[in-house]
Amino acid sequence: MTDLIEVSYTGDLLAHRRCPRAWAYEKHIGIHPYEQVQAMEGFLVHHAMQWLTDQHRKTGHHAGRDQLTQQLERYFLVLWARGIRTTFASKMETIERVVGHLYQEDRDEPQPEVKAAVEGAQHEEYPLRSVRRVKRELYGGKSKVLLTGVLDVVVQQKSELVYPLTWRWTDKVRLEGEVTETPDRAAAGDQEIWDYKGTRLRKNNARDDYVRQVATYAALLQDRIGLPKRCVLFFTNEKPGSKRRLLSIPIDQEVVEASINWTLAQVQELRQTVLQLQRDPLSVEGGDLTKRGLPLGDRVDDDLQAQCTACSQRFDCSTYRAHLSKGRRPGTGSVPPDVDLLNVAKN
Ligand code: SF4
Repeated sequence: MTDLIEVSYTGDLLAHRRCPRAWAYEKHIGIHPYEQVQAMEGFLVHHAMQWLTDQHRKTGHHAGRDQLTQQLERYFLVLWARGIRTTFASKMETIERVVGHLYQEDRDEPQPEVKAAVEGAQHEEYPLRSVRRVKRELYGGKSKVLLTGVLDVVVQQKSELVYPLTWRWTDKVRLEGEVTETPDRAAAGDQEIWDYKGTRLRKNNARDDYVRQVATYAALLQDRIGLPKRCVLFFTNEKPGSKRRLLSIPIDQEVVEASINWTLAQVQELRQTVLQLQRDPLSVEGGDLTKRGLPLGDRVDDDLQAQCTACSQRFDCSTYRAHLSKGRRPGTGSVPPDVDLLNVAKN
């Protein structure tokens, strides 16, 4: 038996924080969701940014809107064949929405922040792998953790760029902070780590986890490229021109060291979930890990609800059932449609 725990930052660590039960059943029992409803836009955005970067590198010019649209039409079919779905009505509606968020309305060229990432890209889809030694007794008999991740892009700025929003660390040890309207000014030559998020900037646990994710990526990359000047989250689903598109996150030695400690503490929790699953699979509860102390019905927020509605485990999930039953009159007897096995229209 291996002495190593391999943990992907997004596929394991963040998924476990979003819902330990769904993560454990998928990763360790092999029950996969039959479709991933909200993932389509995120995949399309990542592919679009990667493809635009490749095109710019090959030709020295930015690809036009029509070229990107055609490329995404092809990639949409690949994703559809893999079971990735969209909440929007049609293929073209989804693609136009993604392209509309990346391109300027009145000119056939990308938005300024997209150009900054494309022109300054040094390394894209940068694979991260780092082994850390841990205390065997704290990690259920394992003595090494292999952290893996894929960083979207390392950017070296070609010209000045102003980030309207900056993350302010309120507690660097616990990696907590808040978004402030203090502008941060990048200079030409600044090295930065960018991560694309196909969502909007909202005040929720996912936002804070994204900040910790890029800080950890900076820590894992430190030996190879040194400390970046800052990390940047690019929320591609915010409207073009909105100051909420880019969030600058200052990075220093204290933050990167804390991010590794925080991440290893999360791996410890994840390992506990695995051991619990092996002892008693039915005892692993659903819901946001950070809301574990709350009543069952309060552990599902809007983001998680979008996952629950397509989750293969929802029919016997006491957390989701409790959430759906909130506000329903007691004694009405009917099963909420989302978890009703006889609701053939949906299920
Ligand atoms: S239904 Fe929701 S809370 Fe329950 S296991 Fe699935 S994702 Fe988790």
